[in-house]
Amino acid sequence: MIAERLARVRLRVAVAAQEAGRDPRDVRLLLATKTQPADLVREALAADARARADDPAATALLVGENRVQELVAKGPELAGFADVHLIGPLQSNKVNAALRWASCIESLASLDLAQRLSARTTGPLDVYVQVNVSGEPTKHGVAPEQAVELATAVAALPRLRVAGLMTVGARSADPAVVRSGYALLRGLRDELVASGTRTATELSMGMSGDLELAVAEGATLVRVGSAVFGPRPT
Ligand SMILES: *Cc1c(COP(=O)(O)O)cnc(C)c1O
Repeated sequence: MIAERLARVRLRVAVAAQEAGRDPRDVRLLLATKTQPADLVREALAADARARADDPAATALLVGENRVQELVAKGPELAGFADVHLIGPLQSNKVNAALRWASCIESLASLDLAQRLSARTTGPLDVYVQVNVSGEPTKHGVAPEQAVELATAVAALPRLRVAGLMTVGARSADPAVVRSGYALLRGLRDELVASGTRTATELSMGMSGDLELAVAEGATLVRVGSAVFGPRPT
């Protein structure tokens, strides 16, 4: 079941990349594992490893956790099996726990948190600046107008490396609206690289429902949960 669903997602990414004239291997896949038990996550990682045995150039699955509590609970069981990213908001009192189990923080949205991470990590630590491209009030992330300034300031801190920008796309049934948010993130990334933050090449965007739109706009990392694990209980 999981192997089949993973294969289907890989295929969707590959088709979308080809249609955009991109190399599918430039788009990594991150498994968003919120609420999923560690043994199921490991099953997915094992299925993916078997599938990649036929395609040695394919990149390994990443894992993304939303909550530090889950990151800590599953961390010991996933250590050595996958790189785990934190993809949900991080409170400053949980920095040490996050650093213990995550190799990358994708949800950085304040200079204060960046300074705390910089002070506590042994580094180098990869971070993404999360941008709220849709302006929806429930969404985490800095406003698009502040993204380049924040990312530039973060890049100047010791031990942190800005890998790129991350966003959660607009909650809209209109693909043009969703896509324009992804285009906005791409433009910000281009601006950031051009202004001197040369490590910030990555774009973490696109989920189960809209990954094709994100890949068309240049996503280098898509984060997929329900397309692999099935719908989450509500
Ligand atoms: C849950 C989640 C995803 C994956 O969402 P699906 O729609 O299940 O693919 C991606 N990114 C973040 C930040 C998430 O919380």
